[in-house]
Amino acid sequence: MSIVETLPLDAETLREDFPILSTVIHGDRPLVYLDNAATTQRPRQVIEKLVEVYERQYANVHRGIHWLSDHSTDLFEEAREKVRSFINAGSAPEVIFTTGCTMAINLVARSWGDANVRAGDEIIITEMEHHSNSVPWHQLAERTGAVVRHIPITEEGLLDLDAFDELLNERTRIVAVGAVSNVLGTINPIGEIVRRAHDAGALVLVDAAQSVPHDKSDVQAWGADFVAFSGHKMLGPSGVGVLYGRLDLLEAMPPFLGGGSMIRRVTLEGFEPADPPAKFEAGTPPIVPAIGLGAGIDYLEAIGLEKIHQHEQLLAAQAHAAMEQIGGVRFLGPAPDKKAGIISFTLEGIHAHDVAQILDRHGVAIRAGHHCAMPLHKRLGVVASNRASFYFYNTLDEVEILAEALQDAKRIFRRR
Ligand code: PMP
Repeated sequence: MSIVETLPLDAETLREDFPILSTVIHGDRPLVYLDNAATTQRPRQVIEKLVEVYERQYANVHRGIHWLSDHSTDLFEEAREKVRSFINAGSAPEVIFTTGCTMAINLVARSWGDANVRAGDEIIITEMEHHSNSVPWHQLAERTGAVVRHIPITEEGLLDLDAFDELLNERTRIVAVGAVSNVLGTINPIGEIVRRAHDAGALVLVDAAQSVPHDKSDVQAWGADFVAFSGHKMLGPSGVGVLYGRLDLLEAMPPFLGGGSMIRRVTLEGFEPADPPAKFEAGTPPIVPAIGLGAGIDYLEAIGLEKIHQHEQLLAAQAHAAMEQIGGVRFLGPAPDKKAGIISFTLEGIHAHDVAQILDRHGVAIRAGHHCAMPLHKRLGVVASNRASFYFYNTLDEVEILAEALQDAKRIFRRR
């Protein structure tokens, strides 16, 4: 059943930039890569940039007074500027390079959290958070005696904003929320959440790991205080991520890690920290991964984020419609028009790992398990689920292969 005839992007042509996408596995199965929420693939333009830097432009940054170090520093700072413009941050020092989204959230929980959260204070997260945006807050609560509270989800898989209003009070110090759920695909109303949290005097951290790679982002329009995301989910190498923080907050926060680069002065008695961003980039930063991320951003901007978002939503809508025909599919999360290009589901009577294994025989790569969201799975009453997640290089043909492979899984298990 076809509800989508054409897509806004010519994915077949774009795929030519991605060497890995022409892989054939198990003898004759073209790889159908639908695990993009875990990590995306890289185009030749990013891979070539990495090679070029290592072959001709690499030295440590902010250190040497020599030509190569200056050159490498320029490339690294250009990458910071690309990230700044990509998310519309107000200034470059508000962009901190970390090793990933997880590190960025931990940085805030440790640095801002330890300095500002006290026993009896409250931290609000949601029932749909990735463990990266729940465990650091539980750890902060353990260290300080604060309490972690949760915005519940509705039966539809949306955040219950009335319940959020009831949770907010004068003890709330921070609200940490994902922009897009990595399981449900739900697109959360971040601007509205920030407005309500700020009215209550609380800060907001946005886990944007699943939104920045897929849709236009404007951290100033959101009004968020902190935003975290990872490079490897948006064409960049692994090992680099970003923390955006409001400059006045970053200036007031103590450094998280100590070491080289993050100081203005060190004496036998102690140290004086540098200004942001250096204050939060102790040691040698992820130099080449950051430059690679910059190349990934150039690629995404050349395509256009609006088109990417549309393309993925249409693929998800088509997948939804095709999977509905199979019977026995339970979708986790809201209808396609309220979510990003992520479809999590269970297939009645078949364990998620078995489904993923049968799909793999068809060349289809999807995720199976709890997707680092155990509390959410408990809330939904499922031990494990499957997740197909799309990017701009996926095609309607691949959606068809996914649906056929699911039919096959059902056939195989009916026979048993
Ligand atoms: N938050 C969300 C919503 C995610 O999907 C992920 C990655 N699965 C993370 C945080 C953590 O990202 P990373 O492992 O790159 O630090």
